[in-house]
Amino acid sequence: MARRKKVYEGQAKILYEGPEPGTLITYFKDDPASGGKDGATAAGTASGVGDGKGVLNNRLSEFFMSGLNGIGVPTHFIRRLNMREQLVRMAEIVPLEIVVRNFAAGDLSRRLGIPEGTPLPRPIVEYYYKDSRLGTPMVAEEHIVAFGWANQQDLDDIVALALRVNDFLSGVMLGVGIRLADFRIEAGRIWEGDFMRLIVADEISPDVCTLWDLRGLESPDREGLIREPGPLADPYTELARRLGVLPSNVTHTTKPTLIN
Ligand code: ADP
Ligand code: MG
Repeated sequence: MARRKKVYEGQAKILYEGPEPGTLITYFKDDPASGGKDGATAAGTASGVGDGKGVLNNRLSEFFMSGLNGIGVPTHFIRRLNMREQLVRMAEIVPLEIVVRNFAAGDLSRRLGIPEGTPLPRPIVEYYYKDSRLGTPMVAEEHIVAFGWANQQDLDDIVALALRVNDFLSGVMLGVGIRLADFRIEAGRIWEGDFMRLIVADEISPDVCTLWDLRGLESPDREGLIREPGPLADPYTELARRLGVLPSNVTHTTKPTLIN
């Protein structure tokens, strides 16, 4: 039997050659905290994450990417293959992590002294150069264009893409009582004949989002204080549960039936 070819192994996923040219299979691992950069990764560093994280991220990424495809925002997602794998279009990844922020959190709060939870006057888009040896440093458009990682037209397209993803994700999250403080995506180039198109690649999961729970905030607590939204507890399970994408065959296994 032919062994499939591993293309890349990162912290969160393994990429295999896909069944057709221009496709890849992404396998979602359970490794905790694949984020660990300065952008939108609060949930990804949650402790106690282990078994099943990959299964849930595979489902969640499928849910968000196919939702985006459905409203005309192009993504790499083709279809889910099994519990841990999905088929995607192979893209030429732009070496940037694109962060969109709606509320001050994490690194933005630390660097600029803006209290966590402060609503931002408009969504802020930031870029980080994807190089873990350098610690994924924040870069300006000037660096990106000067060093040829993307041109100005690409950047305009990337911002438009990122803001559409933001509107979609924020709305979906709000619908289940979750505030999307920030998130990050990767963008990739695909070629259709002579035309190049930028699409959303990588993954959309709690590993790349900062999520705050809005449920139960309507009433003051016992001391009469109005509570602030806090981090969503167990974001993988909770988000999957609220969105109704928990894999049912994990919890409700049926016993084999004896046929006489
Ligand atoms: P990392 O540890 O570098 O974050 P991951 O474990 O998340 O890596 O593995 C995903 C890798 O696959 C990333 O390097 C990402 O840029 C790349 N990737 C994601 N989607 C695609 C795609 N559609 N085509 C090619 N490469 C992709
Ligand atoms: Mg990653």
